[in-house]
Amino acid sequence: MLAMTGYDVIVIGLGGMGSAAAYHLAGRGTRVLGLEQFGPAHDRGSSHGESRVTRQAYFEDPAYVPLLLRSHDMYAALSRESGRDLITLTGGIMIGPPTSVTVTGSRRSAEEWGLPHEMLDAADIRRRFPTLAPGPDDIALYEANAGFVRPEETVKAHLEGADRSGADLRFHEPAERWEASGTGVRVTTAKGTYTAGHLVICPGAWAPDLLADLKVPFTIERQVLYWFAPAGGVDPFRPDRHPIYIWEDAAGVQFYGFPAIGGPDDGAKVAFFRGGRTCTADTVDRAVADAEVEAMAAQLRGRIPDLPHRFLHALTCMYTNTPDEHFVIAAHPEHEHVTVACGFSGHGFKFVPVVGEILADLATTGTTRHPIGLFAPDRFTLS
Ligand SMILES: Cc1cc2nc3c(=O)[nH]c(=O)nc-3n(C[C@H](O)[C@H](O)[C@H](O)COP(=O)(O)OP(=O)(O)OC[C@H]3O[C@@H](n4cnc5c(N)ncnc54)[C@H](O)[C@@H]3O)c2cc1C
Repeated sequence: MLAMTGYDVIVIGLGGMGSAAAYHLAGRGTRVLGLEQFGPAHDRGSSHGESRVTRQAYFEDPAYVPLLLRSHDMYAALSRESGRDLITLTGGIMIGPPTSVTVTGSRRSAEEWGLPHEMLDAADIRRRFPTLAPGPDDIALYEANAGFVRPEETVKAHLEGADRSGADLRFHEPAERWEASGTGVRVTTAKGTYTAGHLVICPGAWAPDLLADLKVPFTIERQVLYWFAPAGGVDPFRPDRHPIYIWEDAAGVQFYGFPAIGGPDDGAKVAFFRGGRTCTADTVDRAVADAEVEAMAAQLRGRIPDLPHRFLHALTCMYTNTPDEHFVIAAHPEHEHVTVACGFSGHGFKFVPVVGEILADLATTGTTRHPIGLFAPDRFTLS
């Protein structure tokens, strides 16, 4: 067995967050080893499926807003640097009953942070966005600074940038275990043992395996992405005419979707936000049943009537949920040389660039200027 040293930081997991961490660490001159169990920008975790919603009037909590402002700037900068098309601002509409979390939470963030937005009633929504058929009592918050980012392209841009800065990125090499002492860390794979001064763990849906000692009760949730071809063609659904949307119904069920952005079948993608089946990362059922497609189509029928015309295809993906659906980003409470980023609870991708920056800050200086108080793992164990 080989023992390899000479790294400052090891990053386990090169998905959304880990690839961004490797990029920022290597860019700062840190000697980085990245270990990934699958290939680059793979489709077995949480960072695939062509598009992810991004927005700023964040209904989940106003504390996310400064991170979103930074993240949008960083997405734009990474697009320029990499020559890849990473972020498209189409505008975004958050629809629901006036008391829904989607509407009230978005409005709260917009007002607290002075974000540009408009409130629309049902007639305004129909006039501005003719594909959408809200009920008479639905209202919406519209913000221009919303749209979508491209997960696979973002991961590739970060991996390429990390590679250019000299990171040693190893694919198809799972970390079997890690240990930390007062002086550094040690990671073992089937190929050898690696040591470094610091370890960053970004395991996605494998958090229950790699980070059991955090004592965060993670739930892995299977989610399905559906592509449909609209009746009458995709033109009214093109990104220059169609916003991203999050729609909450009277029962509190949220679904969301995208314009038609090209891709193999060139349809428009939709999904339910929550309510998926609990699974594990290694045993998730990747087959999508007809009944699931029908449930998605039924949700759309009265609301975006042209969309569920012809089902094209579907993909599964995993959320790693925490009990309060807020992230975990912190120094490991028990190991000073270990930083963790996990539990992104189905809404992390829009933050990928800024999370990479935060992880590089924490790994190299032990602190960050970004507000991450909401993400401390000990919130689940302290009474
Ligand atoms: C269906 C779906 C829709 C979503 N929609 C949105 C959205 O619209 N907007 C938004 O902001 N977010 C969205 N998200 C959430 C977002 O995509 C995730 O929060 C984000 O991708 C999580 O990134 P990650 O790095 O934690 O996980 P991943 O990208 O899965 O990365 C974890 C990596 O760790 C690797 N790994 C694990 N264990 C080991 C090991 N032992 N050794 C080596 N490597 C290991 C895995 O192979 C994987 O590559 C969505 C997620 C899904 C599934």
